[in-house]
Order: sequence, then structure tokens, then C-alpha cells
Amino acid sequence: MADIEKTLLDLDREELCSWVKEWGSPGYRADQILEWVYRKGVYEFEKMSNLPLRFREKLARDLPVTRSKVLDWVQSVDGTQKATVELADGEIIETVLIPEPDRQTLCVSTQVGCAVGCVFCASGLYGVRRNLSAGEILYQFLIAVERLAREGKDRLTNLVVMGIGEPLHNYSALTRSIGILNASWGGQFGARRMTVSTSGVVARIRQLAREPWSVGLAISLHAASEDLRQRLVPGRGIGTVADILEAGREYHLHKGRRVTVEYCLLDGVNDSPEEANQLASLVGGGSFKVNLIPHNPVEGLPYRPSRKHVAEQFRSVLDRRGVPVTLRRPRGEGVSAACGQLRVLSMEPGGHGS
Ligand code: SF4
Repeated sequence: MADIEKTLLDLDREELCSWVKEWGSPGYRADQILEWVYRKGVYEFEKMSNLPLRFREKLARDLPVTRSKVLDWVQSVDGTQKATVELADGEIIETVLIPEPDRQTLCVSTQVGCAVGCVFCASGLYGVRRNLSAGEILYQFLIAVERLAREGKDRLTNLVVMGIGEPLHNYSALTRSIGILNASWGGQFGARRMTVSTSGVVARIRQLAREPWSVGLAISLHAASEDLRQRLVPGRGIGTVADILEAGREYHLHKGRRVTVEYCLLDGVNDSPEEANQLASLVGGGSFKVNLIPHNPVEGLPYRPSRKHVAEQFRSVLDRRGVPVTLRRPRGEGVSAACGQLRVLSMEPGGHGS
């Protein structure tokens, strides 16, 4: 994987203080910089008027705020907006902003490509190219905040890590970016308004449960039977259905937040009443709620969304068995949102906590 040069967004407050002091400036300069970046949304050092000129020049040369840039924003008819972002090494990622009447949700990517290779997903077609740095993850948050402010819209209310990539395969950058987003000197964004979505990296789910902040957890299951699951989500390092759900239950126990099980309904593949019953047996007991997602077809792949009445039947099986379940309408059509993004587009309003 490419070695990406550090930017200011990659550093926490302590590290920035050390940099600043190493350059012979007092530590409080770090707080002044952070204030410009995270409070005022200013990323050009020349505009940071309370910093000495020579210091600003040095920062601009040696520690730019970011090396990423937005190539464009496109908007679908339902208001969903997708930013295409170019990273320092020319790689491209996507970030999606989903406006709803009661909230504004941002869906961020954590990798270029994805190693999990879900068979119905465009992002996993070519494997993973590299992990994003914490700064590259945070940049997506900052451009969304800026976009909403510029359009005079409501502030960002939710952040979901469900874009391109398996977030738990990039654990250290993910947790660093969550820490910075959550910090009082950083994004000041509540952990309870963030959700991490995984395809089932069991050891990392357990590790996440021990982190100090209580982010929401979503597990993309897409199948109840082990055979089918292995066919649909073949990635290495992903646990069995039983192990994944056990880790999910532990997460619920530790954090007191009910875990969302995401299930993308594929016509004739995983949408039978038998599969629904099996799923109900696995996720009963109060630790989980199920989010049924209408599949958005990907060009060149043979999967179609379940028919409406089949999807409804699947939902009602779970409902009858007492499992909290939501079947959502598709969003983001026309902006070719990636698979992971479609997962978020179908999340239920009101957050993902229990
Ligand atoms: S659905 Fe998510 S986990 Fe699966 S290949 Fe696509 S990006 Fe990766």
C-alpha cells in the first residue's frame, strides 16, 4: 500500500502541539490552528490571521491541512448528494450526504476498494487498493459540514461509516478519526450519532466494544444460513454467522446499544420465507434490529432487487416473530451510490441506538 504523507487532519491535539513546539512556537498555537480548522472551517493557512506569517508559511509547506480535494458533487432527484474526492495519490473515493426531513446523514468511505468482495457490490469487484488515513476519513466530514453551511441547510446530525471499504479492516485510522471527530477540540460530534458498519470482522467488533466511546454498530449479514453467507460475503477474515452475531450480542451488552443487522434483499437469492425464519431465530432476544434494504442493481452483476411483495413477506415473517424490522425505500438513485452507501440510504430515522 502507498505511503501517504501526513497532513494536519491526521494529527490529534497532542501530536500537533509537539509539532508546533518542535518548530519553536508556543503550544497554544496548536489550539489556534484547531480552532480555525474545526470551528471556523478555514483550511488555508494564509487566512489564519492570528498566526505569525512565517509560521503560516512553514505550515503550508510542511503540514497542509489536507492533500485531498473534491472533484465534484452530484445530486439525485431525492436530494441525495455524492462527492467524488481525489486523494493525494490520485485515488478516488466517494462520500454521500443524505438529507431527510429530520436529519442530515453523511456516509463516509474508509478504503479505496474493498477486500470483502460481496458478490452484489461494485466496490469489492477489484479488491482493496489501500486504506484511507484518518485525515482522509475526516476530510469527508469537513467537506460535508462546509457543503451544508454553504447551502444554508441544517447541520449534520448523523455520520455512518458505510461507504466504500470494510471499516474494521482499517481499524487504527477508523478509531483515530472517530476520536478526533468526537473530541472537544476536534469535530465535537457525538459518538452516539456515529455508526460503524461491518461485514463481520469478529475480533475487531470485540475491540470496538472496548473503546471509550459508544458508536452504533451495524452488521451487514445478508444471509442467515452459513452456506449462503459464504457465497454472498466471501471475504477472508470474516467470521461465521454464529460468531458474528455472538460478537454483536457482546457489543450490545457492553454499550447498551442495540445492533442493526443489515440485510440486502436479492431476488430469488436470500429472500425466501425459510431464510426469513432462520434469520428471526438468530437475531431474536433483544440485541438486534433488522434493516431490510432494497438492492440497487450494479451494472454487469446478475443480482436484482426482491419483488415488492416478496420483500414485504420477508419483513412480516420477522415482524411476526417479534424482531424489530424496517423495510426502507431505496434512495440515491441517479448518483450511483456504492453498495455500502446504499446500506445507509435505507436506514431508519432516529439513529441506530437501541
Ligand atoms: S458491500 Fe461493503 S463490505 Fe461488501 S464488498 Fe461492498 S464495500 Fe466491501
